Amino acid sequence: MPDVVRESVFNLQFPFTRSLGSTLSTFFSALAQGQLIGVRTGGRVIAPPLEYDPDTAADAGTDYVKVGPKGTVSSWTWVPEPTHLHTVKHPFAFAFITLDGADTPMIHVVDAGSESAMAAGMRVEAKFKPTEECAGRIDDIIAFVPAADPSPSDGAGEPYAAPAENAITMLDSFCDLTYVDNTSASTLLWMESLLKGQIIGQVCPMCNRTYVGPRNMCCVDAIPLDESTLVTVPDRGVVTNFTIITPVQYPGQTETEPFVRVSILLEGTDAVMAQQSVLEIPASEVRVGMHVEAVWAPESERDVSDIGNRGWGSGGECIRGWRPTGQPDEPAENFVERMM
Ligand SMILES: [Zn+2]
Repeated sequence: MPDVVRESVFNLQFPFTRSLGSTLSTFFSALAQGQLIGVRTGGRVIAPPLEYDPDTAADAGTDYVKVGPKGTVSSWTWVPEPTHLHTVKHPFAFAFITLDGADTPMIHVVDAGSESAMAAGMRVEAKFKPTEECAGRIDDIIAFVPAADPSPSDGAGEPYAAPAENAITMLDSFCDLTYVDNTSASTLLWMESLLKGQIIGQVCPMCNRTYVGPRNMCCVDAIPLDESTLVTVPDRGVVTNFTIITPVQYPGQTETEPFVRVSILLEGTDAVMAQQSVLEIPASEVRVGMHVEAVWAPESERDVSDIGNRGWGSGGECIRGWRPTGQPDEPAENFVERMM
């Protein structure tokens, strides 16, 4: 069987907000006013400014100077096919640009029209958004474009007097990451078993531990486990740990009330299934030692498209969750010796 039998494409998205700290707050507050700045430290001007000197780790101080808006390209890479994440929608270059008045380069977009127009040593200038649209973000500069007049920037290298309080102190960002998961042969076996309403595992011939999911190795003995070690395991077990999560309403969160995620040790196995849902009882009634059984989705509704290679235990859209069986709780000493 080939190592990779299926590719799944996943997309991870989340917004986040970060505080900028004093130096970058000064930089972005100046940028919102159309002014690029650097900091003079260790006998040179670093632009954009850093809080610490990268050579000595000393405090870089607040000796800010005006730099740009023109600069010189030192190196570049061409982007022939921009993605939806790039702010420029036609082919462009990412380039290191040493702004006038600075001694270190910054990276930004150069919109030169064509790859043949790009060259190390070319003079470029910042093209800002209209002032009312500038928000103190690096994309306040739409792009650097070939400088109409290659002469030095006016005012570059002059002192910049930072305001007592910066207007921009926080930065909103959005992560959007698409990646491909190459489904392994063992993950495919796991998917196929779930679609049939079965949970499979593997028994190590050396230590006799039963793992849930075909991991293809024993992590205790560090030996490979082949398909001859496959077994079907019960879809009943005991809750060994749980966490009650109070949902924060970030984009994509479908839960609105506190919910529970549990680890379950299936009967006769030695490794838990983690991150499982409990059905039919309130989260507050879930307890360690509680016996549960799988609630399978109807065969026609089972789906494994959100299962990847990362860890074992995802039931995809095949196992809806787990419900209490009503048996008396299992004493902890019967399941504390287990694998994660
Ligand atoms: Zn083993």
